[in-house]
Amino acid sequence: MTEIRETVILGSGCAGLTAAIYTARAGLKPLVLEGHEPGGQLSITTLVENFPGWPDGIQGPELIENMKKQAERFGASFQLAHLNGVELGAAPIRLQASEGEIHARTLIVASGASARWLGLPSEKALVGHGVSSCATCDGFFFRGKEIAVVGGGDSAMEEALFLTRFASKVTLLHRRESFRASKIMLERAIAHPNIELRTNTVVDEVLGVDEKEVKGLRLKDATNGSVSELAVSGLFLGIGHEPNAKMFAGQLDLDEEGYIKTTGNVLTTKNGVVVRGVFACGDVQDRRYRQAITAAGSGCMAALEAEKFLEALGH
Ligand code: NAP
Repeated sequence: MTEIRETVILGSGCAGLTAAIYTARAGLKPLVLEGHEPGGQLSITTLVENFPGWPDGIQGPELIENMKKQAERFGASFQLAHLNGVELGAAPIRLQASEGEIHARTLIVASGASARWLGLPSEKALVGHGVSSCATCDGFFFRGKEIAVVGGGDSAMEEALFLTRFASKVTLLHRRESFRASKIMLERAIAHPNIELRTNTVVDEVLGVDEKEVKGLRLKDATNGSVSELAVSGLFLGIGHEPNAKMFAGQLDLDEEGYIKTTGNVLTTKNGVVVRGVFACGDVQDRRYRQAITAAGSGCMAALEAEKFLEALGH
């Protein structure tokens, strides 16, 4: 017989770990399943300066490690797991992991959203050393410097505009001629004296791997293939996020971009009807705020809802 867990938490980022701390303190012995990006997006950032309680900032990985220790102290356990399928309608909820089937009375989905990357090895090598997917997190480090933002949607416009608070110049690079961004955001970016827009421009290489910090970009003109270099100290990706919710399609309501729809903050639905015992928190259901503190807050809410649900069942 497979053991039935009171609470399984999918994801070990800020939302999942906060849910783990709360459910562990409530004596629910949560099992946290860690996926392909353990620790979530904070684990790939450097200094976090806007998480309340850390006046001098804290390194993202350290913050995550602290939260994990805090959850373990109260009885949370962790398992690396790759999920192949889920059955949310069943009681108990069934999760098919490569490592075996897991049964749970409640499931807290905190699987996050992954930033899209260009996919260049040099980009990967310099994440946290000048390459970032989060302007709010890292913009501060580029005071007085020249930087580039990639993308042609609202995220890229928003990042470019935000980054003008710090950077002396922002070059916005977009791979096509026309933009996906809303008219108002695009007009604001065009009107800004410190933003230069370059269309039909593809980032071919991030320069500075040997020096371990971004020194510039090698760019390719998409119309004629000509190559040029742009000296910048930072590269921000504004090419969108992918919510990690594909495995729930058909079992939970997702919005048109694949984020889990929630009602009452963290309750999930299927065809508009609340799915009992399944809660979603953090970036997998938040396309608007995407902050560590908002993820943590919704993780707390999901945990409290799971506790209430189990209490009503008499557990
Ligand atoms: P998006 O609208 O999907 O735009 C992504 C942009 O990145 C597109 O211009 C796309 O280029 C480009 N891109 C994608 N993959 C790329 C690659 N590998 N290399 C180079 N460029 C690449 O995503 P988003 O900007 O994150 O917006 C998502 C949603 O959130 C939208 O509905 C948006 O309106 C909303 N949003 C709103 C606000 C706001 O109102 N304040 C702020 C942020 C986001 P192509 O155009 O060539 O495909």
